[in-house]
Amino acid sequence: MLSPMQDFPLTVDRIIDHAAKYHPNREIISRSIEGPITTTNWAGIRDKALRFAQALVGLGIEKGDTIGVMAWNTARHMEVWFGVPGAGAINHTLNPRLFADQLVYIINHAEDRFLIVDFDLLPIIEAIHDRLETVEKIIVMTDSTHMPESKLDGLICYEELVEKQGGNFNWVSVDETDPCGICYTSGTTGNPKGVVYTHRSNILHAMSSSAPDMIGLSSNDRIMPVVPLFHANGWSVGYTAPLVGASMVMPGRDMTPAGLYEMLEQGVTITAAVPTVWLALLQYLQENDLKLSTLNRVIIGGSSCPRAVIETFQNVYGVQVLHAWGMTEMSPLGTICSFKPEVNALTGEDRLTVQETTGHPPFTVDLRITDDAGNELPWDGKTPGTLWARGAAVVQRYHKYDEDAVDENGWFDTGDVATIDENGYVRITDRSKDVIKSGGEWISSIELENAAVAHPQVAEAAAVGIAHPKWDERPILVVVPVSGTAPDPQEILDLVAQGFAKWQVPDDIVFMDEMPHTATGKISKLELRKKLADMDYKLPA
Ligand code: ADP
Repeated sequence: MLSPMQDFPLTVDRIIDHAAKYHPNREIISRSIEGPITTTNWAGIRDKALRFAQALVGLGIEKGDTIGVMAWNTARHMEVWFGVPGAGAINHTLNPRLFADQLVYIINHAEDRFLIVDFDLLPIIEAIHDRLETVEKIIVMTDSTHMPESKLDGLICYEELVEKQGGNFNWVSVDETDPCGICYTSGTTGNPKGVVYTHRSNILHAMSSSAPDMIGLSSNDRIMPVVPLFHANGWSVGYTAPLVGASMVMPGRDMTPAGLYEMLEQGVTITAAVPTVWLALLQYLQENDLKLSTLNRVIIGGSSCPRAVIETFQNVYGVQVLHAWGMTEMSPLGTICSFKPEVNALTGEDRLTVQETTGHPPFTVDLRITDDAGNELPWDGKTPGTLWARGAAVVQRYHKYDEDAVDENGWFDTGDVATIDENGYVRITDRSKDVIKSGGEWISSIELENAAVAHPQVAEAAAVGIAHPKWDERPILVVVPVSGTAPDPQEILDLVAQGFAKWQVPDDIVFMDEMPHTATGKISKLELRKKLADMDYKLPA
């Protein structure tokens, strides 16, 4: 029998076409890099994305070419987000916070033909330009009056380029399984690895992650991604928002709590970022006695969200926390802690305890946990094991690798250790390389850290396993105090001890003024271990 259904290729040009046709007036409010707050809508974004795609083709971009994009979250970035794949090219998101050597590596490895850069980030490209092997043209994302002075020749002004196009153009036709974007993992060990997203994987991922039991996004929402579009596929917000016709607020490069608060008050109903952003915002709100007048949900992921953050958002500001887990390799969503009926039935502290888990997966993600021998472990909420994933938007093979990144049954080792409870709620207890093993038992570094940051004078905490002749490893805690305070170490250890067996409690605390972070704002345990090598702490005999 021939298929009685139409062929409807899942390509991302259809997302922006849909938004412009059915939700043309939903606003995109943006703090521009030039300064002022600007307003456009989905019809406006599509119009400029189409003309930008036309311009790229006019400049010689061909189907399958890779284009590097280094930009903050702005409306213009959304034009580029759809303009690049609309030209048949692959959007390579570049994190400006990467070390120069890493940027050089990934631009050369992805073979970026063009770079598209916010004008304030141009110095980063100028500094590495001599080492870039494939870049032919650089387009600067601004208008002619803001084009910066540069030692580089032939820079192209984005707004001039787009203005010159007639817009009489059709999106370059691609297959749904063609590549659409590429994002490199931050490479804390070895070189960064490229994850290539297809048009199809991006659409399936956006549909499943916007569903009611996931982030529950609708055309009545106004979403502000604080998480940059260059971090882990921008947590898909660049696709989910236009897919459902949500309005957007783009915060630009001002990541200060005051700057973010100003943008949140532009009618934002849902927002997304890593925990450190929210810790700083909550402190700012408290110090200035401010309220969040329209926000009702906040997606928090990228690293474990402390209980105090969840509690404050919900109890003080009336904002529901959606604790999420994911990774670049999963496009990125793995799980979200929304409330199934069993959790809805809980109240108070019991529900908060569930919210410390990262919740359950959408339809397109399948998960399991195993022991070291590969045996599947029970979903009892207690037994930690290696977390494996497979799904419609999970990596099969890293860019230019000869071998698959999955085992013979198609499971991808996430590198995380987790428990899963009887309702399918996943609690990430560690990255496998950060697990602390003492006397043959695992101690969750994440749980120790979350317990420590519950102390009001602890700004950041990291638990690290130190090699020990008798116990394999013993945990010690590194703490950055809240500025202007000098917390008592014993008080912190006593607080931690309340939730742990005696042998799990860290043996000592080392104070530091600053924690080393990765380019995506996470604590870098690699750097931390190097720093600790020169420091004093006590371990048991
Ligand atoms: P990068 O390390 O470059 O930031 P990813 O964003 O892909 O790259 O990081 C994914 C990893 O972040 C996960 O494998 C997991 O270890 C960690 N992670 C993400 N969300 C959470 C969470 N809610 N709780 C604990 N860890 C998390």
